[in-house]
Amino acid sequence: MSAEEVSAPERTRILQDLGLVAWARRAEPQAMQDVTTTAEPVTAEPARTDGLPSWEALQQSVSGCTRCALAEQRKNTVFGVGSRAARWMIVGEAPGAEEDRRGEPFVGRAGQLLDAILEAVGTSRDEVFITNIVKCRPPGNRDPQPEEAEACSQYLQAQIALIDPALILAVGRVAAHNLLGVETPVGRLRGQVHEGPGGRPVVVTYHPAYLLRTPSAKRKTWDDLRLACSQVPPKAA
Ligand code: SF4
Repeated sequence: MSAEEVSAPERTRILQDLGLVAWARRAEPQAMQDVTTTAEPVTAEPARTDGLPSWEALQQSVSGCTRCALAEQRKNTVFGVGSRAARWMIVGEAPGAEEDRRGEPFVGRAGQLLDAILEAVGTSRDEVFITNIVKCRPPGNRDPQPEEAEACSQYLQAQIALIDPALILAVGRVAAHNLLGVETPVGRLRGQVHEGPGGRPVVVTYHPAYLLRTPSAKRKTWDDLRLACSQVPPKAA
């Protein structure tokens, strides 16, 4: 389900479930207000001189990719959604069944929860860029294998380079481990700003699917989002 399909009462319920309503309503720090992104649509793609692929070429490469075994059972590749001018990039682990069917990351209940979290910090699915470590669904929703993540990493690296986000939010263990090259538990990676691809700041938090199973982690997630907001420079007036 997309952000647009979530009704206002449903958003309120989700925010209440998250325990975010009271926080979202109070006066927020400047950094939290400034997280709203400009997200200007890119309507024409100039020729690149920096050696990076064009956005369209990258999308085409992913849609036809057979670099790893995950190509065999996918229905759709899941490139990612959002703004090419995003200041936030959100990286999860892999598409699930519904994402595979629709070709869009973070749909279903976990996606609704992510949308609610983004709304609570003043941004939206359209203003950030959301993608995964691997662009094809692992069978049975298993974790991506290291060789699959490695095969797919060129696409994620290109996306990061093209978007050049101010912040990368790694949601969940698989995303954090692959972005940071560590195997430290998420609980110990939280609460600090890491140096990620290209020296960009990376903040680690729990995956929305985990939050659905573990409501007690929602307050920690809010702390993570506040830390993430503090890393995004104020947008130009
Ligand atoms: S997961 Fe990535 S590397 Fe593997 S087939 Fe899909 S797009 Fe290609």
